[in-house]
Amino acid sequence: MQQVAFLTQHGKVPLLTEALAALGWQIQAVSGFDTDLLGSFAGERPRFMTAAECALRKATLAAELSGSAIGIGSEGSFNAGPYGLGTLNQELLCCVNIDEGWAVTAVAQQLCSARSWQLTEAAMLQTILPTIPDGQLLLVKQGARLEKALTPAQALLCCEQWLAEGAVTLEYDLRAHCSPERQQVIRLAADNLRQRLQQLCPRCHKPGFWPELPLAGLPCADCGLPTSQPRGLRACCRYCDYQQDFLHSSGFADPANCPQCNP
Ligand SMILES: [Zn+2]
Ligand SMILES: [Zn+2]
Repeated sequence: MQQVAFLTQHGKVPLLTEALAALGWQIQAVSGFDTDLLGSFAGERPRFMTAAECALRKATLAAELSGSAIGIGSEGSFNAGPYGLGTLNQELLCCVNIDEGWAVTAVAQQLCSARSWQLTEAAMLQTILPTIPDGQLLLVKQGARLEKALTPAQALLCCEQWLAEGAVTLEYDLRAHCSPERQQVIRLAADNLRQRLQQLCPRCHKPGFWPELPLAGLPCADCGLPTSQPRGLRACCRYCDYQQDFLHSSGFADPANCPQCNP
């Protein structure tokens, strides 16, 4: 088994174990570094790197702190979903190999039910708490006060006490060990990481040769002119610049998407 170091504070190791066991990898947690120094979800520290930079930094730290050649770092983010609907949870997993000199970043994303509420009276909780998914923990904020990892029953008690002193904010606790929905997205990212690691560049044989750059210009089925519809995806090697196009099997665009036939 290849030992692989994963920098994590929130119990994410089991979420990667199965996907990466297929590579003969054994994942070991690396602690001893406060990953929240790189920014945290509970809002106590501001972020100063992009999510991808953060994941790469953590992966490198994992390898350095453990002495392993291979390190993994993870980073999640939550943003408004498409058309402002719902919340989109994106999870990145970055894997570096210090000895071989490569990094591969995998991604998965899914809409989730994460929300926050401004509460002025405890009665509002009667409609909110039944909507919380099983196993999802909550956090309650009031000014500088913050309670994390609360069950719905604990959140209710906390809100009832604090509401005597004014409005409170109730939110999903989105740290991985508090959020089953997020755990599922991290599992998907681990699957994506395994797949990317198995795709080697045909020229330099480094991993992560993954088609993800959209190629515009699928020809119109009626007039044959290129449309804005994607005709496939391009894989570009980050190390030797080798490129390969992977074209969609359906070779023509619906004329409804053609600027000539349907201006
Ligand atoms: Zn290459
Ligand atoms: Zn056309």
